[in-house]
Amino acid sequence: MRVGILALQGAVEPHRAKLAALGVEAVAVRLAEELAGCAGLILPGGESTTMLNLIEAYGLEEPLREFAARRPCWGVCAGSILMAAEVENPSQVSFGLMPITVRRNAYGRQNESFIAKIDLRLPGEPPRSQEAVFIRAPRITRCAPETRVLAELDGAPVAVEHGRHLATTFHPELSEGDRLHRHFLTICGAQRLAGAG
Ligand code: GLN
Repeated sequence: MRVGILALQGAVEPHRAKLAALGVEAVAVRLAEELAGCAGLILPGGESTTMLNLIEAYGLEEPLREFAARRPCWGVCAGSILMAAEVENPSQVSFGLMPITVRRNAYGRQNESFIAKIDLRLPGEPPRSQEAVFIRAPRITRCAPETRVLAELDGAPVAVEHGRHLATTFHPELSEGDRLHRHFLTICGAQRLAGAG
């Protein structure tokens, strides 16, 4: 199985390393044709406004929409901002792949970034505590009822799943462990078996 990582800007390499350790080839996606053959796509952390500008410059908006209509996407931090239905502070265009509202930089400035313990509740597994790295993270301020909350911090969701898509406001690629990467690969595999085009 091959999984794409949107590689216009941001934290690409640590995702590639996690996928490689799980025996999965990562494809750095900068051009529309690089999406072909990917079972899913990770939209990494970075800076969402810069990513949006680059998505436009590379003509990736429509190809990303078409890909997300068929295949799983996982947005990490800035990636979750791109996937949200609504973005605040300031308001910004987004792909609306996940029925959540996010407030950018809601946990403070870059130098107020922090590491917290969260309980991750993956389907079919007992909840397990893990480290979560928050870097100038957005806060999920609204989340549609049909969204599955996989983890919370101080009463706000920090990992959510909806249909075939996943969003985390922290950076699992920067911590020990691979439970979320494994989970995303499970979603990708299931979607592929379902023959979703
Ligand atoms: N603050 C960034 C943004 O608003 C996200 C930070 C991150 O991805 N670590 O785009």
